[in-house]
Amino acid sequence: MRCPCGCAERLEMMLLREVKPRWDVSVDSHGHVSLSPSVWVREGCRSHFWIRSGKIVWCD
Ligand SMILES: [Zn+2]
Repeated sequence: MRCPCGCAERLEMMLLREVKPRWDVSVDSHGHVSLSPSVWVREGCRSHFWIRSGKIVWCD
């Protein structure tokens, strides 16, 4: 996925199944994806956000 802040950073956490940290992905009955825990971009824009029911929820 692309970083939702618009910086065009490519985030590859979905592919990192063999390493930590890893994310738990759930899909609700509407097909909306939620990720746990939150995503923190440690380089570049340093975005920190949750994905809840397919929507980006920003952390301060
Ligand atoms: Zn970004």
